[in-house]
Amino acid sequence: MKRKHIVIAGVGFAGLNAYKSLPRWISRSADITLIDQKNHFLFTPLLHEVASASLDDMSVVEPFRDIIRPSHTFIQGFVDRIDPEKNTLYLDEKEIPYDILVSSFGSTTNTFGIKGVDEYSFTLKTLEDAVVLRNHCIDIFEKASQIENNEERKKLLSFVIVGGGPTGVELAGEFSELFFKTLVRKHKNIHPRDISLTLVNAGPSLLSTFPKRLQDYAENTLRLKNVIVHNNFFVTEVQKEALLVQDGNFLDAHTIVWTAGVRAQELNLSGVEAQYQQGKIVVDPNLLVSGSHNIFAAGDMSFLENEEGGLPMTAQVAKQQGIHIAKNIGNLIKGKELRSFSYKESGVLASLGFLDAVASIGKVKFMGFPAWILWRAIYLFNFSSWKKRFRVLIDWIFNAFTGRETTRL
Ligand SMILES: Cc1cc2nc3c(=O)[nH]c(=O)nc-3n(C[C@H](O)[C@H](O)[C@H](O)COP(=O)(O)OP(=O)(O)OC[C@H]3O[C@@H](n4cnc5c(N)ncnc54)[C@H](O)[C@@H]3O)c2cc1C
Repeated sequence: MKRKHIVIAGVGFAGLNAYKSLPRWISRSADITLIDQKNHFLFTPLLHEVASASLDDMSVVEPFRDIIRPSHTFIQGFVDRIDPEKNTLYLDEKEIPYDILVSSFGSTTNTFGIKGVDEYSFTLKTLEDAVVLRNHCIDIFEKASQIENNEERKKLLSFVIVGGGPTGVELAGEFSELFFKTLVRKHKNIHPRDISLTLVNAGPSLLSTFPKRLQDYAENTLRLKNVIVHNNFFVTEVQKEALLVQDGNFLDAHTIVWTAGVRAQELNLSGVEAQYQQGKIVVDPNLLVSGSHNIFAAGDMSFLENEEGGLPMTAQVAKQQGIHIAKNIGNLIKGKELRSFSYKESGVLASLGFLDAVASIGKVKFMGFPAWILWRAIYLFNFSSWKKRFRVLIDWIFNAFTGRETTRL
């Protein structure tokens, strides 16, 4: 039998787990190529810790060349389009033929078409975003410490995070630690009352997918940590140093961080009438792109119909789908019937800064320190190598005793 060429394009949570879960006989008997625009896997759930100087940027990435087996191929490049009729993928002028393709390009920041978001706000989706944001915050404190005028200093030290989902909440908790505990102590002429940190949320409560008790706990905890929380606050425009709200009011802020949502990366399938829902490519229950016999799609970019109108865009879903696709690739090669995917949610978690978090696992709800320990343990074990687990653990322990690293890079 001709050796199959399996291509995994987009190596995030879905693509990496598909690769790692391929049965050993496939790893040995097929040609396997991984393609990504970056040369590393990014562990997004800890990006807010990079942005808030709690973790080093190198701690949340793993180079693909440390992960893949020597007999397999990694190509760094940007996939422009896929031609399913020719079984070919186009990458920076190169043509890559495939027998089986896993496409998992993830998502990008969603501005919902709101004017000014791109121009006037920071985002938190890539490692570069996190580093830029961390540098910016450190710069702002340096500048503010030289300002004599109280009002001007307060203006410079006003921060707003838009988005009351896990990313916004986690970032608010960590920013609170960085601003009110770390940076304030390092700048003798900045007083905590000079700083305003606001979290605005379009819905009626933070963490909308969490149980009510945990939502309330999260909101109260953030307020105790000096975070001003505004619910039912619908941003209609972002301007330079201000947000325009639905009721016509303005909220001034020198720094605006947009964490209000993501949208699927588009899959450019030439010559095929692919179906899309919510901007995502529709997959059948086996996770094959609908109408295709050899292109799987997974993670944030794919849409699988279910009673709730699609699965959430989370790493948990992407990981489970990647593992499932690996099994179905085996079935496809052996000519066996493919198996339908069913998602099993293992729980929801969000940190609220140092030693505090909320977690709901099955019927059990955790808050405070136990949730925080659980949160850290779960994330630690989600890294694929022991090297990274140790590095993150050492960063956490070291920073707990010595404080955050506030060097401006
Ligand atoms: C700040 C933040 C915090 C988060 N926290 C959590 C959390 O705590 N828990 C949770 O479950 N989820 C969390 N998520 C969501 C989670 O990151 C995503 O749901 C998950 O990464 C989706 O996996 P994926 O494989 O679909 O995409 P990704 O992991 O984003 O991977 C996509 C890959 O495709 C590559 N790529 C994209 N386009 C191209 C192209 N054209 N050519 C080549 N390569 C390409 C990218 O470089 C990337 O490596 C968070 C997301 C963010 C941004």
